[in-house]
Amino acid sequence: MPNSPVDSLRTLGIVAHVDAGKTTLTERILFETGARSVQGSVDDGTAATDWLPEEQRRGISIQSVAVLVRWEGHVLQVIDTPGHVDFGAEVARCFRVLDAVIVVLDGVRGVESQTISVWKQAEHWRCAKLVFVNKLDRAVADFSASVASLRHRLGARPVTISVPLYTTQGTLVGIGDVVRGFVSADAAEIAAEDLARFRQELQMARDLLVEDCAELDDELLAIVLAERPISDALLLSALRRLTIRGVVAPVAAGSALTGVGVDILLDAVGALLPSLRDRCRDGLDGWFPTVADAMPMRALVFKVEHLDQETHVYARVLEGTMEPGMRLCASKNPNTFQVGSLYLPHAGSRLECHRADAGAIVSLSAPASIRTGDTLMENAAEPDLPRCEFPSPVLSVLFEPEDSADLIAMQAALLRIEADDPTINVATDRETGLPKVSGLGELHLEIVSSRVREFTGRPVHATRPRVAFRWRLAGAAAAHASARGGPGEETRVGLHVELTVSAGDAPATANCGPGVPADCTDAVLAAANQALRENQVMGGDLVSASLCIARLEVVGPDLSESLLGAALADALALALRSAPLVRLEPRVLFTVYAPQESGSVVLADLHARGAVILEVSSGQLGARIEGEGQLSAFLGYASRLRSITRGLGEAQLEHAGYGPVAGPRASIPPRI
Ligand code: GDP
Ligand code: MG
Repeated sequence: MPNSPVDSLRTLGIVAHVDAGKTTLTERILFETGARSVQGSVDDGTAATDWLPEEQRRGISIQSVAVLVRWEGHVLQVIDTPGHVDFGAEVARCFRVLDAVIVVLDGVRGVESQTISVWKQAEHWRCAKLVFVNKLDRAVADFSASVASLRHRLGARPVTISVPLYTTQGTLVGIGDVVRGFVSADAAEIAAEDLARFRQELQMARDLLVEDCAELDDELLAIVLAERPISDALLLSALRRLTIRGVVAPVAAGSALTGVGVDILLDAVGALLPSLRDRCRDGLDGWFPTVADAMPMRALVFKVEHLDQETHVYARVLEGTMEPGMRLCASKNPNTFQVGSLYLPHAGSRLECHRADAGAIVSLSAPASIRTGDTLMENAAEPDLPRCEFPSPVLSVLFEPEDSADLIAMQAALLRIEADDPTINVATDRETGLPKVSGLGELHLEIVSSRVREFTGRPVHATRPRVAFRWRLAGAAAAHASARGGPGEETRVGLHVELTVSAGDAPATANCGPGVPADCTDAVLAAANQALRENQVMGGDLVSASLCIARLEVVGPDLSESLLGAALADALALALRSAPLVRLEPRVLFTVYAPQESGSVVLADLHARGAVILEVSSGQLGARIEGEGQLSAFLGYASRLRSITRGLGEAQLEHAGYGPVAGPRASIPPRI
């Protein structure tokens, strides 16, 4: 496939709440654009983009995959991301390389909890947003209510660019293009009287669209005030300016399953969404360098896959041109490597290419040391591109092999998984010596365990998950400690440390006071930071604290690192013994759907879990309950909910940071 000029390239993610229809839409896009001759389905496990065995078995997307398609003079790099909260890293890493998103709404449910979270991320990354209200083939779907939910729940300014058209009996017959006034029909035949009414509806929708855009775009306003005709091109260019700046969110209607309306959506991708050159960069200086000719190549690695023999990286070229044969280095690593074959990713398969210009997403083989977030560059003197941050793990389990002889193979498999997934952390449990694996949720850890089983071919047992917790410093404390060491024990070091409360819930940091000799500060800070990292106060990290080494006295010739480290570890442990601490645990926001008749049982069960109920509403689908609680109270909740609702209830959880634990465990000073 030839290289695509930056201006015709659209790089967009398909984001949504789980089950809104992202994968189905991606499959439909592959089919409509001719990239695939049959439509794959998530329901029978034939989706081209869900190609991990685990994805096909469970009918969900775990990994984000890029597909490349052409539509009416544009090349689209489309990324289907997983909607499940446990795979938040996949979504976060994609946003770092996107210029735009299609936000898919379930036309029956409107904006859902995770829509809110992906919307916020899109705003943060200044991605232009196009909304697709999906599932309109279902009789219970409600397009206007979904559009209204964008206004109420997201504070967005939706403008409708296509609308569903119904017969007077309420059957969906097609989707109308508001700007150009044509009807994209599922069935070829539309009754003449319906067609006349549709034309009228579309004209009214167009007048409203012009009015909305003119209010926000001075150029269009000037034309309206001069009473000149508004051509389709004029209206689209005003809409494009507003979409790129994030002032409005154009909304398209349709059904990914039947395909109706998807053509209008694809037209809008080309006409309204930005390329890398014209994407919004407000407040993102350095993250997306401006596109210019003759720049040295820099590309950002956003995904790494360690396969058996090879390491495969996915990167987006953000500056210059990448070509096979080029020598590159990766962030801070002085060793260079040569680019072999270069591929454009294509859902499980790939297409070889001979150059990739700014904007392109490519995959290539690279040294095993490369990690997500690294910058690949031609010239090592260039600065790194900024990295994206990933959510920290909140749950951990111990993995136990059935036969202890399998431990080494299991550890190797875990290290491979950890290298590919920045939200997995593998450590060794001090008490048992078993691998302790931390991740973002029960499903995330279950997938890790089945991947380990797949890699090693041996059974693996995981213990019950436990939540990660932290300790927040709630008041000052101080301590003095000393240590003796060196050959003959002739060096003695004495330390006075003070812990003070710092703002926010950031990890504790260290600093030196005036009582530390200037030539020792570097060594003292290094040792103090290590002591903070290693000192797990009763098994959790310390946050909101600043550790000041107020005084340091050294008597003797040999102030070694280990001596400093020992004194600091003791001083910190002593200070923490008297410090007031508050235990913080991960919190979740939940949305529970349940049949109306089970509503009260579900509410009573939620109260028993100490949850705070924020909103209860009812609709065609039954009761919807939203609220907040502690993650630990929601372990295993999905199966409990199914059992109290005869299998009909459904819960969606979203991480909501850390918060103080309510009740008796709230603030126990730790005994070390
Ligand atoms: P994802 O989790 O967002 O990737 O959602 P999927 O694409 O896996 O779809 C979830 C479910 O909704 C599947 O059973 C799909 O068949 C179904 N679905 C998706 N799009 C449509 C649609 O347009 N109409 C109807 N009726 N069902 C749909
Ligand atoms: Mg999916």
